[in-house]
Amino acid sequence: MKKTLKQIVNWLNSDQQIVDDVVVTGISINTRTLQVGDLFIPFRGEKTNGHRYVEQAFENGAAASFWLKDEPNPPAGLPLLFVDNPEEALQQMATAYRQEHCAKFIGITGSNGKTSTKDLVAGVLSPYYKVQKTEGNFNNELGLPLTILSLDEDTDFAVLEMGMSGFGEIEFLTKLAKPHFTAITNIGEAHLQDLGSREGIAKAKFEIVQGLQPGGKLFYDGDEPLLSPLVAGEKHLQALSFGLEGSNDLLATNITTTENGSAFTVEGLLDTDFFISVLGSHQVKNTLVAILIAREVGLSTEQIREALKDISLTNMRMQLVNGAQGILFVNDAYNAAPTSVKAALQFIKATDIRTDKWVVLGDMLELGELEQQFHEEIALAIDVENIHQVCLYGPRMKWLYEKLQSVLPAGRLLWTAEDYAPIIKHLRENAGTDSIVLLKGSRGMALENVLKAFND
Ligand code: ATP
Ligand code: MG
Repeated sequence: MKKTLKQIVNWLNSDQQIVDDVVVTGISINTRTLQVGDLFIPFRGEKTNGHRYVEQAFENGAAASFWLKDEPNPPAGLPLLFVDNPEEALQQMATAYRQEHCAKFIGITGSNGKTSTKDLVAGVLSPYYKVQKTEGNFNNELGLPLTILSLDEDTDFAVLEMGMSGFGEIEFLTKLAKPHFTAITNIGEAHLQDLGSREGIAKAKFEIVQGLQPGGKLFYDGDEPLLSPLVAGEKHLQALSFGLEGSNDLLATNITTTENGSAFTVEGLLDTDFFISVLGSHQVKNTLVAILIAREVGLSTEQIREALKDISLTNMRMQLVNGAQGILFVNDAYNAAPTSVKAALQFIKATDIRTDKWVVLGDMLELGELEQQFHEEIALAIDVENIHQVCLYGPRMKWLYEKLQSVLPAGRLLWTAEDYAPIIKHLRENAGTDSIVLLKGSRGMALENVLKAFND
């Protein structure tokens, strides 16, 4: 983006007079990552006050900075823009920039797979178009406007992740982004407590259609029974379903996995085979969103096939890593919730890349009152005939441990509440070149550290 401070004042409907105008080429909320030419946005919270860093921001090359109207002692002689509420001003700027931007916007929500699907959609389009996407997980009321404001003016596609923890949040994000295409990857159990039920979660995700452009489309998980009634209830909505079962508009079947990725057949709107260098049938399912969007924008099957071959996902999403002792790790440690743990377990069960199958699971956090039940239910997804070693880490995993004790002997089941050193020891003594080890837990459990410690 390239805007003058005067233009930004206009965007904000502010009556502040700008005497010495400057050009702003980006937005930053952090002086450490600020780029020359950025507008700095200081936030004031209970513990921190970003205004303390405003002068630092200018030293680092900021072109201008916001300043809260009621914050005392604004530094003199600097291009400051006075605002009532920095978050709202940021959102207002993003709304204005969005309105003048010509890119096609794509909004992606769902309980699991938003980041993966965003990477897959951007990956399939980027050989043919200029594509920008949400960095990392910048998917909320701050991250989304920042992402929009970071778009170059000549970008063809903006692929945006939209996250939420309660009703109304996706509505807000989608109305800001006004997407041409939207996708709901799946419905899980995260935020069950805030939303009351899985139906509530489905409704909250479905808010994404409220911002759709006229003529825009929704792609949704057709394997999820809660979504189709919502789709049917919106008479004028153009929607296509994808999935691994039943009669979806685009269906993936015959999924086979090697160390290099997954081969699969699609049926329905397209009838052909693809290969993608990601693992897990859930990631193949996410790939269906990328294929559907690529098809909508007119890419040929051959172009889609070529693009899929080279896609890689953001780290720690079903990432294969060679570890010490010749062990193959599946680093899926970015996060964990019941649906994504089951999906990863399904992959381990189905894979024949290696024969000695291990799962190292960390606590699933933020599940609310039903957390014990959710941990216990994972037992049903662990096929003890097929999975040889189960290592559990974290206080909540005690619940799963107790469920598994009757079906797994002590030598194949380990639980440690506080320290993962026993898991490392167990791996050192018992895993080798025929072992594949899944690492999965909530972000707070940082299971990638097991891999790091093991390799050190
Ligand atoms: P977050 O809410 O943390 O932003 P996200 O929705 O962006 O998560 P990803 O980061 O893509 O999701 O993936 C999180 C975890 O969910 C990973 O372990 C991934 O393998 C798993 N996952 C991805 N897609 C699906 C899916 N369709 N169904 C179930 N699990 C999935
Ligand atoms: Mg994400």
